[in-house]
Amino acid sequence: MHLSRFPRLHFAHLPTPLEKLPRLSEALGGPEIWIKRDDCTGLSTGGNKTRKLEFLMAEALAQGADRVLTQGATQSNHARQTAAAAAKLGLACHILLEDRTGSTDPDYNANGNVLLDFLHGATAEKRPSGLDMNQELERVADRFRAAGGKPYAIPGGGSNTTGALGYVNCALELVSQANDRDLVIDHLVLATGSAGTQAGLLAGLSALNAHIPVLGIGVRAPKEKQEENVFRLAAATAERLGCPEVVKRADVVADCNYVGPGYGMPTPGCIEAITMFAELEGILLDPVYSGKGAAGMINLIREGHFKRGERIVFLHTGGSAALFGYTKIFDFGERTRSLAAKAQRREAA
Ligand SMILES: *Cc1c(COP(=O)(O)O)cnc(C)c1O
Repeated sequence: MHLSRFPRLHFAHLPTPLEKLPRLSEALGGPEIWIKRDDCTGLSTGGNKTRKLEFLMAEALAQGADRVLTQGATQSNHARQTAAAAAKLGLACHILLEDRTGSTDPDYNANGNVLLDFLHGATAEKRPSGLDMNQELERVADRFRAAGGKPYAIPGGGSNTTGALGYVNCALELVSQANDRDLVIDHLVLATGSAGTQAGLLAGLSALNAHIPVLGIGVRAPKEKQEENVFRLAAATAERLGCPEVVKRADVVADCNYVGPGYGMPTPGCIEAITMFAELEGILLDPVYSGKGAAGMINLIREGHFKRGERIVFLHTGGSAALFGYTKIFDFGERTRSLAAKAQRREAA
């Protein structure tokens, strides 16, 4: 495989840091936990979609597009990073936002990633949940074409073989960083949704013959479906790289026990994980993906699945902008009310 044979733009801040998490490791009393900081990819608060967009946006420009279209949930990090990349390249950006949670919270509907989509100059339309969103995207692309435009449609999460190349690149980067510091990675853990991140990593790690087990913590689909989605995309990506058949079905593992009531609905474990990373390491997770991924990792450490002496790398896929769409899941009401009351008393005095 030779990644430079694929058209690519360079706007991610790479390599992202690979850091030890000593206080979190100590608090959990199990394996040594490391973090790969793909929340620091640099584009509009960062995240994993930026690596995918380096390849997707290069393809859009090569095809002469004047606009990119994409789709995601209301608080989509992918939509926000796409809007930012489009702004940087002078392309228009139009987003379909699917109402997957039914939330009527004004923060959820207008703050966080939604605020940033509009700040980057994107336009948006809403869709109810339950539609085939990539098919909706094609319909909207036809509409722009009929009006004489040249839209480039990016599937949800940027998860096709082009986007997954961004995570083949991450696999190369991670193995090289680990080699440089004599770090033997026993497990790589990440949140998995539209599958492109895990698929790209598996294609890259398999092509390298790195023997690093990858565990995806699911945020939406049941295990069987999630693993099938990841496997299909990983196999197609490996084939495109010129390494057909390197990805084995048995190496595709998703644990979907941490979804809770549904996509985008935070669980107690997710809120605990966000709080632990914030208080112990000064790192912001998100309530939809990385918080659930970390909740899975933490629970598997507590259950003894990951053992003392092993080294885990948690891939931080970003998403902290979504925290501002989910302010009400944190119980800081009493503390903020007491601060406000004090300020009022001071003003009155
Ligand atoms: C999209 C996303 C993921 C999941 O990545 P996929 O490639 O869609 O599986 C994980 N974390 C965050 C913060 C994301 O935005």
